[in-house]
Amino acid sequence: MVTKISSVGLWGIDGYKVEVETDSRPAQDPDIDIVGLPDTAIKEAKNRIVSAVSNSGYRIPSANIIMNLAPADVKKEGTMFDLPMLLGILSSTGQIAVPDENTAFFGELSLSGEIRRERGVLAAVIAAKELGFKAIFVPEKNASEGAVVEGIDVYAARDVISVISHIEGKIPLHPVKKSLNDMIKKDEQDTNDFAYIVGQQTAKRAGEIAAAGGHNILFIGPPGSGKSMIAKSLPSILPDMTFDEIIETSKIYSIAGKLTEKEPLCVKRPFVRSTQNVSIPGLMGGGTTPAPGLITLANNGVLFLDEVAEFSQRTLESLRQPLEDNIITVNRVKKSLVFPASFMLVCAMNPCPCGYYGHPTVPCRCKEGQIEKYLSKISGPLLDRIDLQVALPPVTVTDISENRKLAESSAEIKKRVDAARKRQTERISQYGFTCNAKLSPKAIRELCVLSSEATAALNRIMEKTSVSMRSYDKIIKIAQTIADLAASDVILPQHIMEASYFRTLDKKYKK
Ligand SMILES: [Zn+2]
Repeated sequence: MVTKISSVGLWGIDGYKVEVETDSRPAQDPDIDIVGLPDTAIKEAKNRIVSAVSNSGYRIPSANIIMNLAPADVKKEGTMFDLPMLLGILSSTGQIAVPDENTAFFGELSLSGEIRRERGVLAAVIAAKELGFKAIFVPEKNASEGAVVEGIDVYAARDVISVISHIEGKIPLHPVKKSLNDMIKKDEQDTNDFAYIVGQQTAKRAGEIAAAGGHNILFIGPPGSGKSMIAKSLPSILPDMTFDEIIETSKIYSIAGKLTEKEPLCVKRPFVRSTQNVSIPGLMGGGTTPAPGLITLANNGVLFLDEVAEFSQRTLESLRQPLEDNIITVNRVKKSLVFPASFMLVCAMNPCPCGYYGHPTVPCRCKEGQIEKYLSKISGPLLDRIDLQVALPPVTVTDISENRKLAESSAEIKKRVDAARKRQTERISQYGFTCNAKLSPKAIRELCVLSSEATAALNRIMEKTSVSMRSYDKIIKIAQTIADLAASDVILPQHIMEASYFRTLDKKYKK
């Protein structure tokens, strides 16, 4: 008898329908033939299914069993088809009732018949709903991440026996439901808070402006000046994620296998740190089963490149396209795939190779020419995409002893950021822009209004420093965000002056 069991396969962060067709005919020796999976996966799946069948109290009958995973022309990746394949064998050989075709099954089997934690459950549930399924069985250990999706019943599958008892109507299971709101509310206090950062008022102000306008930012300072602490605390002052952003980010973490039972969804903006040793596929995404890279894990959040001058030119170069497009295309032989990659880029570097150029007490050991060479490593395409550049002075003993009390908290700063974001959204969203940082040169001219004094101030800066046209645009964009923070409809001279202050490298390169 031929049976069809529904399932969902994953490609990138999206899912597609898979139908497991099973035919069985009586034969002398039991034999299972599987079509539509890569060779090695077939062997492993067979072994797991055979063990799980017998350990759940059923048997592999003396029959010739043929299984086809349709569509056959797509090589299916992953182990999530174990459960539907097992149900196909048992129903096609008449040992259990045939499951409802409006229900999808998704899960890897252990040899004992338990259903194991699986990556991609949230993506699978969303896909199942979009494909029109009424219900889906997912591993019990991942059920919470799928349970927030409305419009489909999500069942927590513990083991083969409990799934079959439900199918046969003996012990019906109840769908798991979770409200996204409840999951956001139970959010606890963040340990990365601006309140704990000693001194560094200017750098913190730059961080606030970056968060308010969605600007990429570079921190330049000696070791121990707090560059990475400020970077790490930036998500705490960014606006809350929208529901859509929570689902999109969680889907990525679900596919990457990074969600836990304790935190089944990403409700906070991600902070992703990359070191200079990162591989290009590790950063951009890729691999045999295409997995999201760091830039996709940072989607809707912050990507932090620490010691950015130590990164290879090739690695920095590869960030250019995603910074422009907010997506990354991973090319595959048959079908390329697109991962989202919309993130705020935060970089940190020392002022020179030894780290102590300009330090009041520690002498710099770098030779002449070395410093310039070091700084020039991040020039060009990457620097073009960084709006704010800020120098951090070393933190002194007096700074630390005089700042025993807590600084302004992230919650307070976030209120100003939220208000500034609201102002800019009202002004620019109708033109298709999400934040000041993304404004095109044309939009800067049309949407940013400078007072005549501000224009004069900007012109004076241009004459004095001979900055490029790109820097000119960046100063206006930053000044616009500063004006938004000040609730001013017009960009004033003080906004221009402050903005130009956050272009440290413009001054460094001035000859
Ligand atoms: Zn040095």
